[in-house]
Amino acid sequence: YGTEASLQKEDSTTEGNSFKGHDMLAPFTAGWQSNDLDPLVIEKSEGSYVYDINGKKYLDALAGLWCTSLGGNEPRLVAAATEQLNKLPFYHSFWNRTTKPSLDLAKELLETFTASKMAKAFFTNSGSEANDTQVKLVWYYNNALGRPNKKKFIARAKSYHGSTLITASLSGLPALHQKFDLPAPFVRHTDCPHYWRYHLPGETEEEFSTRLAINLENLILKEGPETIAAFIAEPVMGAGGVIPPPATYFDKIQAVVKKYDILFIADEVICAFGRLGTMYGCDKFNIKPDLVSVAKALSSGYLPIGAVMVSPEVSDVIDSQSSKLGSFSHGFTYSGHPVACAVAIETLKIYKERNILDQVNRIAPKFQDGVKAFSDSPIIGEIRGTGLILGTEFVDNKSPNDPFPPEWGVGAYFGAQCEKEGMLVRVSGDNIMMSPPFIMSPEEVDELISKYGKALKATEERVKELKSQ
Ligand code: PMP
Repeated sequence: YGTEASLQKEDSTTEGNSFKGHDMLAPFTAGWQSNDLDPLVIEKSEGSYVYDINGKKYLDALAGLWCTSLGGNEPRLVAAATEQLNKLPFYHSFWNRTTKPSLDLAKELLETFTASKMAKAFFTNSGSEANDTQVKLVWYYNNALGRPNKKKFIARAKSYHGSTLITASLSGLPALHQKFDLPAPFVRHTDCPHYWRYHLPGETEEEFSTRLAINLENLILKEGPETIAAFIAEPVMGAGGVIPPPATYFDKIQAVVKKYDILFIADEVICAFGRLGTMYGCDKFNIKPDLVSVAKALSSGYLPIGAVMVSPEVSDVIDSQSSKLGSFSHGFTYSGHPVACAVAIETLKIYKERNILDQVNRIAPKFQDGVKAFSDSPIIGEIRGTGLILGTEFVDNKSPNDPFPPEWGVGAYFGAQCEKEGMLVRVSGDNIMMSPPFIMSPEEVDELISKYGKALKATEERVKELKSQ
């Protein structure tokens, strides 16, 4: 996660608000003590748009933070929350007490996942808590099986799995480790499956995938298969720059993981519920995981909720062990919060009723083709994506080996130009990411493409200017 603060400093649209040098410790933001810290303060949302406190309107091309799938003001979600708040604003799910919304949501959620069999769902408040829970489930599982040494996790370079101690460790982004004494010692990272950046001269996508699977196998053998508990992967990598897998990648990786009795965890926090044009990323890439993490679009981002889904094999082992010990001693006060669950149930109902996959697949080609039409730009190395997720990488000479000088702030400049045009995207260094709401109209997709084009033109001019200096 990168440099949102620098992006905002480039822009003048937040002038006049009273939050300069504010009192909040802001996540993923630099310069906490700076009186110049001048955030873009969002006040209101409507469909695919958000508005700042000065009334300026922005097309929300990132759907909040990859989450507001149903856009900014879906009245049915507000009604579901209100109804539940009036009936039962809170009760917990510890010690065999629970609430109906959490039981109903578990059932509904499990039915949405068909790539492999999932037996149980565990609720969290976030994606980080879901992945943190995965680690505990996997350790508990291996302890129950009498395999106390099978505890290491393999994740991938450039992955993002959260920002708690353990999930920041799993994440393969150096910024999440530096100065935090991370990663934790049980985590190993294997290759990032980014074909454009890392393939060898003449290597096909399939050959690249084969090489990565061999590297993974070599890592497992070097560490000792008896020490490796699980492999975790996002079907399409999100925060690391939107990186869809190369052809045959997941087939080959899964074969290796299976061979050494290693559990496969699909981190579907961004991909789940339709973003890729399939209900899950696992459906798209034929992934058959043992464990799945979801969050974000589970409630369209309206309330914090995440979940872990667990295969029958894993849940049976955990169940037999916890029955002996008295309990599975893990959970959060707000695990299965009834209001968040009620909103999630309504969200899943809306996805079904409105055939959300059809809707995504109606606008996705326009979105992908429209933005990818800018691929020839001299400052763009690659535009990549699928469904409603897309990344742009700025480089010089169209080469992955020629980054622009970081002090030029090319990505931040593009982000600031988008903001000026009235569109919000995600900037991380010279990577730009977009994941629009599922409900975008074709006209709004046209607007997104037009704003992207204008911001790109201004950025090309800027690079020309910087080069001539
Ligand atoms: N996994 C993935 C793939 C994510 O993209 C994110 C958040 N961007 C997380 C986990 C962490 O989720 P949260 O921020 O809700 O803790």
